[in-house]
Amino acid sequence: TNFTQLGLAEPILKALATKGYDKPTPIQAKAIPSLLEGRDLCGIAQTGTGKTAAFALPSLDYFHKNPRPTPLGGCRMLVLSPTRELASQIAVSFRDYARFMRLSVETVFGGVPVGKQIQRMRAGVDILVATPGRLLDLIDQRALTLKDVEIFVLDEADQMMDLGFIVPIKRIDKLLPRKRQSLFFSATMPKAIAELGDRFLTDPVKVSV
Ligand code: AMP
Repeated sequence: TNFTQLGLAEPILKALATKGYDKPTPIQAKAIPSLLEGRDLCGIAQTGTGKTAAFALPSLDYFHKNPRPTPLGGCRMLVLSPTRELASQIAVSFRDYARFMRLSVETVFGGVPVGKQIQRMRAGVDILVATPGRLLDLIDQRALTLKDVEIFVLDEADQMMDLGFIVPIKRIDKLLPRKRQSLFFSATMPKAIAELGDRFLTDPVKVSV
Protein backbone atom coordinates (compact mmCIF):
# COMPACT_ATOMS: atom_id res chain seq x y z
CA THR A 1 0.00 0.00 0.00
CA ASN A 2 0.94 3.62 -0.38
CA PHE A 3 -0.41 6.71 1.37
CA THR A 4 -2.79 7.57 -1.48
CA GLN A 5 -4.59 4.24 -1.06
CA LEU A 6 -5.14 4.99 2.63
CA GLY A 7 -7.41 7.84 1.56
CA LEU A 8 -5.62 10.69 3.31
CA ALA A 9 -6.60 14.23 2.30
CA GLU A 10 -4.71 16.06 -0.43
CA PRO A 11 -2.69 18.54 1.70
CA ILE A 12 -1.41 15.63 3.80
CA LEU A 13 -0.40 13.60 0.73
CA LYS A 14 1.35 16.69 -0.59
CA ALA A 15 3.31 17.09 2.66
CA LEU A 16 4.30 13.42 2.58
CA ALA A 17 5.43 13.74 -1.03
CA THR A 18 7.53 16.78 -0.06
CA LYS A 19 9.20 14.67 2.63
CA GLY A 20 9.74 11.86 0.14
CA TYR A 21 7.67 9.30 2.08
CA ASP A 22 5.75 7.05 -0.29
CA LYS A 23 5.05 3.92 1.74
CA PRO A 24 3.53 3.71 5.21
CA THR A 25 5.61 1.92 7.87
CA PRO A 26 4.00 -1.22 9.41
CA ILE A 27 2.45 0.66 12.33
CA GLN A 28 1.10 3.30 9.97
CA ALA A 29 -0.40 0.68 7.65
CA LYS A 30 -2.04 -1.07 10.60
CA ALA A 31 -3.21 1.97 12.56
CA ILE A 32 -4.25 4.59 10.00
CA PRO A 33 -7.36 2.87 8.51
CA SER A 34 -8.95 2.31 11.95
CA LEU A 35 -8.03 5.79 13.14
CA LEU A 36 -9.61 7.31 10.03
CA GLU A 37 -12.82 5.51 11.05
CA GLY A 38 -12.63 7.23 14.41
CA ARG A 39 -11.75 4.14 16.42
CA ASP A 40 -9.74 4.25 19.65
CA LEU A 41 -6.33 2.61 19.45
CA CYS A 42 -3.96 0.83 21.79
CA GLY A 43 -0.52 0.53 20.20
CA ILE A 44 2.62 -1.26 21.29
CA ALA A 45 5.39 0.48 19.40
CA GLN A 46 8.82 1.94 20.00
CA THR A 47 10.10 5.31 18.88
CA GLY A 48 11.61 5.00 15.40
CA THR A 49 8.76 2.91 13.98
CA GLY A 50 6.93 5.87 12.47
CA LYS A 51 4.53 6.04 15.42
CA THR A 52 4.25 9.82 15.34
CA ALA A 53 2.96 9.90 11.76
CA ALA A 54 0.68 6.95 12.60
CA PHE A 55 -1.28 9.22 14.93
CA ALA A 56 -0.56 12.58 13.30
CA LEU A 57 -1.71 11.79 9.75
CA PRO A 58 -5.23 10.50 10.53
CA SER A 59 -5.70 13.34 13.04
CA LEU A 60 -4.81 15.90 10.40
CA ASP A 61 -7.22 14.18 8.03
CA TYR A 62 -9.95 14.56 10.69
CA PHE A 63 -9.18 18.28 11.02
CA HIS A 64 -9.28 18.66 7.25
CA LYS A 65 -12.73 17.05 7.11
CA ASN A 66 -14.05 18.74 10.27
CA PRO A 67 -12.87 22.35 10.16
CA ARG A 68 -13.74 24.40 13.22
CA PRO A 69 -12.44 27.65 14.72
CA THR A 70 -9.55 27.25 17.14
CA PRO A 71 -11.11 27.19 20.63
CA LEU A 72 -10.08 30.20 22.76
CA GLY A 73 -8.32 28.98 25.89
CA GLY A 74 -8.51 25.41 24.66
CA CYS A 75 -7.26 22.88 22.14
CA ARG A 76 -8.85 20.40 19.70
CA MET A 77 -6.15 17.75 20.06
CA LEU A 78 -4.03 16.96 23.09
CA VAL A 79 -0.89 14.83 22.90
CA LEU A 80 0.67 13.97 26.25
CA SER A 81 4.37 13.21 26.15
CA PRO A 82 6.68 12.31 29.04
CA THR A 83 9.60 14.62 28.24
CA ARG A 84 10.21 17.99 26.67
CA GLU A 85 12.48 16.43 24.03
CA LEU A 86 9.80 14.02 22.85
CA ALA A 87 7.14 16.74 23.01
CA SER A 88 9.29 19.03 20.86
CA GLN A 89 9.95 16.27 18.32
CA ILE A 90 6.26 15.48 18.04
CA ALA A 91 5.42 19.15 17.48
CA VAL A 92 8.08 19.45 14.77
CA SER A 93 6.59 16.40 13.01
CA PHE A 94 3.03 17.78 13.23
CA ARG A 95 4.11 21.13 11.79
CA ASP A 96 5.84 19.30 8.99
CA TYR A 97 2.86 17.08 8.10
CA ALA A 98 0.46 20.06 8.47
CA ARG A 99 2.57 22.44 6.39
CA PHE A 100 -0.17 22.79 3.74
CA MET A 101 -2.95 23.19 6.31
CA ARG A 102 -3.85 26.11 8.50
CA LEU A 103 -3.53 24.60 11.96
CA SER A 104 -1.66 25.81 15.02
CA VAL A 105 0.67 23.44 16.85
CA GLU A 106 2.10 24.38 20.25
CA THR A 107 4.15 22.66 22.92
CA VAL A 108 4.15 23.27 26.66
CA PHE A 109 6.56 21.68 29.12
CA GLY A 110 8.13 22.45 32.48
CA GLY A 111 11.50 23.95 33.26
CA VAL A 112 10.83 27.16 31.34
CA PRO A 113 8.89 30.28 32.43
CA VAL A 114 5.13 29.81 32.32
CA GLY A 115 4.18 33.40 31.33
CA LYS A 116 4.45 33.08 27.56
CA GLN A 117 2.79 29.66 27.66
CA ILE A 118 -0.20 31.20 29.47
CA GLN A 119 -0.56 33.81 26.74
CA ARG A 120 -0.32 31.23 23.97
CA MET A 121 -2.90 28.96 25.64
CA ARG A 122 -5.38 31.80 26.14
CA ALA A 123 -5.24 32.46 22.40
CA GLY A 124 -6.12 28.80 21.79
CA VAL A 125 -4.39 26.12 19.78
CA ASP A 126 -5.48 23.36 17.43
CA ILE A 127 -2.88 20.75 18.39
CA LEU A 128 -1.23 20.90 21.80
CA VAL A 129 1.70 18.68 22.75
CA ALA A 130 2.30 18.80 26.50
CA THR A 131 4.02 17.19 29.43
CA PRO A 132 1.53 16.31 32.19
CA GLY A 133 2.81 18.53 35.03
CA ARG A 134 3.00 21.77 33.09
CA LEU A 135 -0.36 21.07 31.45
CA LEU A 136 -2.00 20.84 34.87
CA ASP A 137 -0.20 24.04 36.01
CA LEU A 138 -1.72 25.88 33.05
CA ILE A 139 -5.16 24.44 33.76
CA ASP A 140 -4.87 25.42 37.44
CA GLN A 141 -3.86 28.92 36.38
CA ARG A 142 -7.01 29.10 34.24
CA ALA A 143 -5.01 29.57 31.04
CA LEU A 144 -6.57 26.53 29.41
CA THR A 145 -9.42 24.01 29.64
CA LEU A 146 -9.65 20.57 28.06
CA LYS A 147 -13.37 20.73 27.26
CA ASP A 148 -12.74 21.16 23.50
CA VAL A 149 -10.48 18.13 23.08
CA GLU A 150 -11.68 15.89 20.24
CA ILE A 151 -8.59 13.70 19.93
CA PHE A 152 -6.42 12.63 22.85
CA VAL A 153 -3.08 10.82 22.57
CA LEU A 154 -1.15 9.37 25.48
CA ASP A 155 2.32 8.62 24.17
CA GLU A 156 5.07 6.53 25.82
CA ALA A 157 2.82 5.33 28.63
CA ASP A 158 5.53 3.15 30.17
CA GLN A 159 7.89 6.12 30.44
CA MET A 160 5.07 8.17 31.92
CA MET A 161 4.70 5.56 34.62
CA ASP A 162 8.47 5.38 35.26
CA LEU A 163 8.60 9.15 35.62
CA GLY A 164 5.77 9.14 38.18
CA PHE A 165 3.15 10.81 35.99
CA ILE A 166 0.32 8.44 36.89
CA VAL A 167 -1.45 10.75 39.32
CA PRO A 168 -1.33 13.79 36.98
CA ILE A 169 -2.51 11.62 34.07
CA LYS A 170 -5.49 10.36 36.01
CA ARG A 171 -6.38 13.96 36.86
CA ILE A 172 -6.11 14.96 33.22
CA ASP A 173 -8.34 12.02 32.26
CA LYS A 174 -11.11 13.40 34.48
CA LEU A 175 -10.93 16.78 32.73
CA LEU A 176 -11.29 15.39 29.20
CA PRO A 177 -14.66 15.22 27.44
CA ARG A 178 -16.16 11.74 27.35
CA LYS A 179 -16.91 11.98 23.66
CA ARG A 180 -13.52 11.95 21.97
CA GLN A 181 -11.12 9.68 20.13
CA SER A 182 -8.33 8.27 22.32
CA LEU A 183 -4.99 6.76 21.36
CA PHE A 184 -2.65 5.07 23.77
CA PHE A 185 0.94 4.08 22.95
CA SER A 186 3.58 2.26 24.94
CA ALA A 187 6.82 0.46 24.08
CA THR A 188 5.83 -2.31 26.51
CA MET A 189 2.42 -3.35 27.79
CA PRO A 190 2.69 -4.95 31.26
CA LYS A 191 -0.57 -5.35 33.20
CA ALA A 192 -0.34 -2.01 35.03
CA ILE A 193 0.05 -0.11 31.73
CA ALA A 194 -2.75 -2.03 30.04
CA GLU A 195 -5.01 -1.15 32.99
CA LEU A 196 -4.10 2.51 32.66
CA GLY A 197 -5.02 2.28 28.97
CA ASP A 198 -8.40 0.79 29.85
CA ARG A 199 -9.29 4.04 31.63
CA PHE A 200 -8.97 6.01 28.43
CA LEU A 201 -9.99 3.65 25.68
CA THR A 202 -13.37 2.46 24.42
CA ASP A 203 -13.33 -0.77 22.40
CA PRO A 204 -9.83 -0.02 21.06
CA VAL A 205 -8.18 -1.53 18.02
CA LYS A 206 -4.97 -3.20 19.18
CA VAL A 207 -1.84 -2.80 17.13
CA SER A 208 1.60 -4.16 17.84
CA VAL A 209 4.80 -3.76 15.82
P1 AMP B 1 8.89 8.06 14.90
O1 AMP B 1 8.83 6.60 15.25
O2 AMP B 1 7.56 8.68 14.83
O3 AMP B 1 9.83 8.81 15.81
O4 AMP B 1 9.50 8.17 13.42
C1 AMP B 1 10.80 7.70 13.12
C2 AMP B 1 11.37 8.37 11.85
O5 AMP B 1 10.82 7.80 10.67
C3 AMP B 1 11.12 9.85 11.77
O6 AMP B 1 12.33 10.49 11.41
C4 AMP B 1 10.09 10.00 10.67
O7 AMP B 1 10.22 11.24 10.03
C5 AMP B 1 10.40 8.82 9.78
N1 AMP B 1 9.20 8.30 9.06
C6 AMP B 1 7.95 8.17 9.56
N2 AMP B 1 7.11 7.63 8.66
C7 AMP B 1 7.84 7.37 7.56
C8 AMP B 1 7.53 6.78 6.28
N3 AMP B 1 6.32 6.35 5.98
N4 AMP B 1 8.53 6.69 5.37
C9 AMP B 1 9.78 7.11 5.67
N5 AMP B 1 10.14 7.66 6.86
C10 AMP B 1 9.18 7.80 7.81
